[in-house]
Amino acid sequence: MLYNNELFETLVNAFRKLPGVGKKTAERYALHILSSTEDEVKEFVETVSQMRKKIRRCPECQDFSDTEPCAICASSERNGELLCVVEKPSGVMAIERSGAYRGKYYVLNGLLSPLDGIGPEELGLSQLFKKVISNKVKEIIIATSATSEGEATALYIAHQLKPLGINVTRIAHGVPMGAGLELTDDYTLRQAMDGRKPLDI
Ligand SMILES: [Zn+2]
Repeated sequence: MLYNNELFETLVNAFRKLPGVGKKTAERYALHILSSTEDEVKEFVETVSQMRKKIRRCPECQDFSDTEPCAICASSERNGELLCVVEKPSGVMAIERSGAYRGKYYVLNGLLSPLDGIGPEELGLSQLFKKVISNKVKEIIIATSATSEGEATALYIAHQLKPLGINVTRIAHGVPMGAGLELTDDYTLRQAMDGRKPLDI
């Protein structure tokens, strides 16, 4: 009987730590593991462990990568004068999937949230500003989400970079208010990228 079984409950609780997974889904996952072969489970565990070990932050753009720098930072085919700023790695995945963009990226460590003690330093903004200057970036496209924190972060970046003569734009918001890029379909995201507008400060 699995009810109250300690090993089973420990695995269920581990799955429940994953985003969007409630108790019932976690139990389904744990039962699935039990009905898999030992080889299948071993392969799964090994894949998770290898991915966690080998994929690190790219020192240039802060996205996840198993090479240093990542393939996008290293590519001479990507336009280095264009830099798209996203709040987390899933933003890069969503924009790449849409195929709408051929510049480079910078991944913030979240969004400004002064009440939670998250300021410019916590986000790695000084590293972003240094990169913009040293790489002679001409346009920054801010693709943070359409939330109050996303807007505040976009305005802060614009305030810092516009006086340096850098063109700061914001992706157009067919992206739904409050939604992250990963929940936006490819077509809407391509439209948002094409329809980006200068940020007035
Ligand atoms: Zn990179």
